[in-house]
Amino acid sequence: MPEDKQQALRALPKVDEWLRRLAPTIAAPTALLKRVVQDEIERERRAILAAPGQMAPCDEEQWRHRFNAAARRKLQTGFRPVINATGVVIHTNLGRSLLAEDAAVALCEAGKRYSNLEFDLESGQRGSRYSHIEDILRDLTGAEAALVVNNNAAAVFLALETLAKGKEVIVSRGQLVEIGGSFRIPDVMARSGAKLVEVGATNRTHPHDYEGAISPETALLLKVHTSNFRLIGFTSEVAAADLARLAHERNLLAMEDLGSGSLLDLSAYGLPREPTVREVVAAGIDVVCFSGDKLLGGPQAGIIVGTKAVIAAIKKNPLNRALRIDKFTLASLEATLRHYYQDADALANIPTLKMLVEHRATTKKRAERLLKNIRESAMRGYLAELRPTASRVGGGAMPEYNLSSFAVVFSPDPSREPSRELSLNRLERDFRAMPTPVIGRIERDHFLLDMRTVRDDEIALLSEQIRNYFLRERP
Ligand SMILES: *Cc1c(COP(=O)(O)O)cnc(C)c1O
Repeated sequence: MPEDKQQALRALPKVDEWLRRLAPTIAAPTALLKRVVQDEIERERRAILAAPGQMAPCDEEQWRHRFNAAARRKLQTGFRPVINATGVVIHTNLGRSLLAEDAAVALCEAGKRYSNLEFDLESGQRGSRYSHIEDILRDLTGAEAALVVNNNAAAVFLALETLAKGKEVIVSRGQLVEIGGSFRIPDVMARSGAKLVEVGATNRTHPHDYEGAISPETALLLKVHTSNFRLIGFTSEVAAADLARLAHERNLLAMEDLGSGSLLDLSAYGLPREPTVREVVAAGIDVVCFSGDKLLGGPQAGIIVGTKAVIAAIKKNPLNRALRIDKFTLASLEATLRHYYQDADALANIPTLKMLVEHRATTKKRAERLLKNIRESAMRGYLAELRPTASRVGGGAMPEYNLSSFAVVFSPDPSREPSRELSLNRLERDFRAMPTPVIGRIERDHFLLDMRTVRDDEIALLSEQIRNYFLRERP
């Protein structure tokens, strides 16, 4: 190793020395502080070794700054609330669906108090954790039986593992989709032990395609919602009722992975038409899987509804124990589902639905409130104004569909400080670094906060953060 590198390594600060110096100024457990100092010095050591030439050594002030910043980062809670101003309602990276007020309360109660999770209050004996919601799911979907697992990927896996392990499953080529987060239908099927038989062409699949592929090894015919992608043009897929009829004629089962799985028909509120879970069940499909936290607007869960025999078999699968839901999911899912007994109740109380059907005039009012609040602060170097924009449903539901919305947009003010390069990227990053991070999006030459996904009770905090930012910062 060159002499100058050896020298740089020898000049790295001593952990204990810095621990003594920092301890009185940073309120953190010694173990945490030690970790911070060690990590930071180690990072520098690696940088020295990797650098092609000589590196300028950090002086004392720089080290102090580094340790302070690293300690601050480590002391901050990792998982925390953010303000979703992206306009994507079911935003998987931001936590998908927000819970209804009573669902959130039920979740908290389940955490703080004992419950009858697996205890039958009538008999005083051990009970089933699913009994609490199975009845409601039957009511809401018309299915004979139901089961809930950790998420829809688990639901699909468990259903296939139970019903088609070592057998063949026939699926249309147009429905072999990747959902995101590397959930690929063909991969999940392979892991379940089911053998995939692809039929049809990418754009068109007909009943005779399925029929021609049926063999003595076939266990079921599977239909998959294409979710986040849409086939347009010269296309056709086989309707649920036709698939079910064909399956039953041949003594096979029909299954559908609905993905989002809506319990109410949102086309009545101006959104695209999607078959509801009840309609798919009524079409004769034996087993239907869907997510709890997409269009349904509840907690993360995978819901399986179907015939008595099929659900009984799935319940008996030992893997079900590994994929079962916890009491938090159970509590919040039951509270969410109860709203669906009446459409109006669901639309008024489930945030996901509320945001999806919100009238643009209401969104506009919220945008105007924000704009009014922040106008008073000097927007150094930026202009803020109201603009119409388009929000997205998200969660793989209704891709390509635009929800008409309003945004507060920030753009560099050309008349002020024209020499300064004002960067939208910087604004986007700074908003993300706010005490309650604000996630917006950059569109052409402005930074945009879509107000459809911002809650009324977040406006005050959002305004305050923006005001503080523009008062403090000189972009
Ligand atoms: C989203 C989706 C899944 C996965 O559901 P998770 O609840 O995220 O596990 C599976 N299939 C389809 C068609 C989907 O859209």
